[in-house]
Amino acid sequence: MDYQAVLDYIREAVEPKFGKGKVADYIPALAGVPGGKFGMAVQLADGRNFKTGDADEAFSIQSISKLFVLQMVMSHFGDMVWTRVGKEPSGDRFNSMIKLEMEHGVPRNPFINPGALATLDLLMSLKGDTKQRIRNYLRYLALNDSVEVDPVVAKSEYEHANLNRAMAHLMKGYNNIHMDVDDLLDTYCYQCAMAMSCVDLARAGLPLAMGGYSALHDASIISTSQAKRINAVMLTCGTYDSVGSFAYRVGIPAKSGVGGGILAVVPGKMAVCVWAPELDTFGNSYVGTAALEMFTSLTHTSIF
Ligand code: GLU
Repeated sequence: MDYQAVLDYIREAVEPKFGKGKVADYIPALAGVPGGKFGMAVQLADGRNFKTGDADEAFSIQSISKLFVLQMVMSHFGDMVWTRVGKEPSGDRFNSMIKLEMEHGVPRNPFINPGALATLDLLMSLKGDTKQRIRNYLRYLALNDSVEVDPVVAKSEYEHANLNRAMAHLMKGYNNIHMDVDDLLDTYCYQCAMAMSCVDLARAGLPLAMGGYSALHDASIISTSQAKRINAVMLTCGTYDSVGSFAYRVGIPAKSGVGGGILAVVPGKMAVCVWAPELDTFGNSYVGTAALEMFTSLTHTSIF
């Protein structure tokens, strides 16, 4: 398969789709990102990688960070995480609180905001600086020591985090948050504001594609069973409240973020990351979803 030709073809084929989505603006610092950006990168298990467009440009990973924090938490705490958060799609927006009270402060899954807050709360119970831990982990996974937080995005997000703060307090009322809410929010905004490129993220996603092992790192990053389970949660909960149509169109596990990135995994083969900042009404990259749909069709890599 000529992956370079496929990526270059997709970059041209998505051109007419720009201007139909909308860059996230509920976090003011994200509103200024140019909507016309497009990058895509593929990382194969054998170490080969391919890229097109703005694939080397760092963008705000936002909710994609939830995937890596879950990975860290599962490495440290194993299945204990599932006592704090469920593994069912929510059917609601990523920042919805509607079920949280009815379900006694236990969020549906680790990829909606309350679930990510509960997961991070568990990580913060470990000794040491959680921000540094997250940054170092992302640097290691991406094999890139210049991976860094965007402090402007982190600050902007923290200043506009009223809904996330409300969720954290509600969960604290149900004893499902143990940390100080301000510290938790500060760390959450930090993880979401990490800036990485498609190339970085495709590398970081390789262990999930390869049963936890990455030849690039020559290490097992997570266990095979954890990779299997995280992929399942990505497939069923990773793309907001349009997981069904995303699976229908794209057909591989993926995690999206409101920065316009989507990291997807072809089990046994590769990780693919796309970035295009204009979002659909659910919060997934509009052009990015179309690009991944083309990718899995052209390369026959849907798992279905
Ligand atoms: N930091 C964003 C928020 O909490 C993450 C949302 C996302 O990317 O889904 O709203």
